Amino acid sequence: EANERESMYLVSEFAKEHFAEMLWNTELGKAIGLSYFKERGFTDETIKKFSLGYCLDQWDGFTKAALDKGYQLEYLEKTGLTIVKEDTANPGDPRKFDRFKGRVMFPIHSMSGRVLGFGGRILNNDKKAAKYLNSPESEIYHKSKVLYGIYYAKQAINKEDNCYLVEGYTDVIQFYQRGIQNVVSSSGTALTPEQIRLINRLTKNITVLFDGDAAGLRASIRGIDLILEQGMNVKVCSFPEGEDPDSFAKNNELEDITIYLQENSKDFIQFKAHLLAEEAANDPIKRADTVRDIVNSIAKIPDAIKREIYIQECAQIMNISEAVLFGTLAQIGKKEI
Ligand code: ATP
Ligand code: MN
Ligand code: MN
Ligand code: MN
Repeated sequence: EANERESMYLVSEFAKEHFAEMLWNTELGKAIGLSYFKERGFTDETIKKFSLGYCLDQWDGFTKAALDKGYQLEYLEKTGLTIVKEDTANPGDPRKFDRFKGRVMFPIHSMSGRVLGFGGRILNNDKKAAKYLNSPESEIYHKSKVLYGIYYAKQAINKEDNCYLVEGYTDVIQFYQRGIQNVVSSSGTALTPEQIRLINRLTKNITVLFDGDAAGLRASIRGIDLILEQGMNVKVCSFPEGEDPDSFAKNNELEDITIYLQENSKDFIQFKAHLLAEEAANDPIKRADTVRDIVNSIAKIPDAIKREIYIQECAQIMNISEAVLFGTLAQIGKKEI
């Protein structure tokens, strides 16, 4: 319902302001939250630009402040900012907790700049708690439909006619601070068609940047077929072992980052063909699978001319005849009809 959503937007906007207030204007916020962001190399300007904040390490400091200001518990609960638990000792007077207690806060904005939800990062190394905690799904926050950073990146994506897609919040922020502003993140979720559509409105070109930890690579490769399906051009670029776009951008100047991206961005289909060819090199049985795998990706491309060019290229990379690849493509096409 529209009124309900509006109330949820308003309490989320208040939360953003409150967390920023705690970060900049309380002793604990400055000592813990602000110094954390500074250690990560973020400037005051950047911290303000992205409206970063801190939720004090108290049970209900934020919730009390919101209720004091007249925001209703109903919307604090619906946005997930407050966790409400029935208290058997006091029926009708439930206990209220701040979801993001003790975390530094990353507000997540819509394309038009409204606050939809938050990501909160833990500060200590307590392995029992998740490193990042996000707002729960709600009427205003659908994690499959948002991209972190899209509000700040949209103009640059349009201007550069390319969008860098990274894994995390801090990757977006560090790139932006360095001067590469056409960057967004799916923030830990597998890429969805809705997220790709948001980018598709601004450019037909995506460059996916992987953390240098190999773990995500295989999983991400699946998501990339979704980008091809929307008729977009995809490049991929990975970072040195142990680095992610955040750490790389923190430790290098803009010029070196730009050169790195230019030299290491590879066309996705070619990249995948090389990867599969390598994997299957010593395993003849695997070769049939890899052929089907790469042709599956090519089959996602709506443009017939592009498909043909890719088939020719992959035949060379994988050392397989074009005829076999075209045959496989035709089979896949039939199955889909
Ligand atoms: P940092 O540099 O702050 O340690 P990161 O962004 O490099 O974090 P990754 O481990 O690379 O973190 O994960 C990428 C993204 O996945 C994160 O930015 C976050 O959005 C999401 N994520 C990571 N760990 C978790 C978790 N435990 N729960 C939920 N989301 C997570
Ligand atoms: Mn990672
Ligand atoms: Mn990372
Ligand atoms: Mn990181």
